Amino acid sequence: MPKQDPMDRSSGYLKKNLETLPQKKRSEYLNQKLRGIIQYAYKNSVAFKNKMDSVGLKPKNIQTIKDLEKIPITKKADLVELQKKNPPFGGYEGVPISEMRRIFVSPGPIHEPGEMEYVELGWAQGMYAGGFRPGDIVINTFSYHMVPFALHMVDNSLHRVGCIVIPTGVGNTEQQVNVLKNFKATGFCGTPSFLLNISEKAEEMGLDLKKDLDLRVGFVAAEMLPESLRSKLEEKFGMTLRQTYGTADIGCLGYECMKKNGMHIPDDKILEIVDPETGKQLGPGKTGEIVATTFNKVYPLIRFGTGDLSIMTETSCPCGRTSPRLIKIMGRVDQVTKVRGLFVHPGQADEVASKHPQIAKYQVVVTRKEHKDEMEFYIELKEEVAQPDKLKEEIERSIRDVMKVRGDVQFVPKGKISEGARKIEDQRTWD
Ligand SMILES: [Zn+2]
Repeated sequence: MPKQDPMDRSSGYLKKNLETLPQKKRSEYLNQKLRGIIQYAYKNSVAFKNKMDSVGLKPKNIQTIKDLEKIPITKKADLVELQKKNPPFGGYEGVPISEMRRIFVSPGPIHEPGEMEYVELGWAQGMYAGGFRPGDIVINTFSYHMVPFALHMVDNSLHRVGCIVIPTGVGNTEQQVNVLKNFKATGFCGTPSFLLNISEKAEEMGLDLKKDLDLRVGFVAAEMLPESLRSKLEEKFGMTLRQTYGTADIGCLGYECMKKNGMHIPDDKILEIVDPETGKQLGPGKTGEIVATTFNKVYPLIRFGTGDLSIMTETSCPCGRTSPRLIKIMGRVDQVTKVRGLFVHPGQADEVASKHPQIAKYQVVVTRKEHKDEMEFYIELKEEVAQPDKLKEEIERSIRDVMKVRGDVQFVPKGKISEGARKIEDQRTWD
């Protein structure tokens, strides 16, 4: 049961005019912002100009989101490489260093410029959609050192929403519990696993999580949030937990609203879902790589390939926000296999398995017979079932529904699938 809360956390928007734009208006708005940043980046970012010149493009060739396909994708590895050649930012920066406020050093190593006035909208939109309101006292348990997330992105965005931040950083769990208690903090920012640590420590200290603490909302990132962990934490604290997705390079790329209906794409980014092999845009409902473009003039990344896989939907959300949504993050591009022209990945195979509790272990094996791809699901069952043929049929139907490719189920004896076996084993040879 949620605690009594005087605050209305479920209705309203941070930027109503943007978040509720009708579809057509949204396209016009984004295309206009796109033309602006392309013009700006071509003029001010050496790396972007080089990229455009290398394929013979001028800013006037990019008028709409569809035109973005013409620009080669920039991957994280490309950033690292160019930063080595041309430190510190590889020419991707859109202003001189003298006009930056901070320089961040992330693992890679990779450097990110921090703008003088923080302008990013996405994280703040996500916090508001997740129930954060002006006046909330929030502990920010992300790391404040070196990397941009805690200080630059989360701290500034909490301020933008009107929250009061306690910059606790990582670790010191006992002290974090005391801070929560002493300040009657209502918000948490951090990883789901760290919130779990806090809950365990608080219980160990003899506290009643609902009575002695006042946590109402949590904004979590940087880790997957399984539904089982979400409901456990929400129940323990009597709070609402919403997750967000993004990267340190480009910022927020998705956030959940109260309806828990996938992740809304923020209004200061353009996201494409593309075929990882060709870079061509795939429509809604298709699995592909998330490629993002920001309007940030200090670090104008255009067509940044995240390496993450997702599916986009444009169906309406009952919260009233009209932005498209990422259904969920399905894994990494390098785990993808193409079967009969369609991408399959371990996340989909997991989804099939999760629909059938009888499955103890599985492995998908892709082979090629007479120039045709074959996909087999080898399955170890928890125990023998009365009607194996019926179960086989049901699982094969789930495979078709989830993976959109036909696959044959074969039950194998326990122990047949080795420990640490790849979830999808590609045994095709191409000679
Ligand atoms: Zn929504």
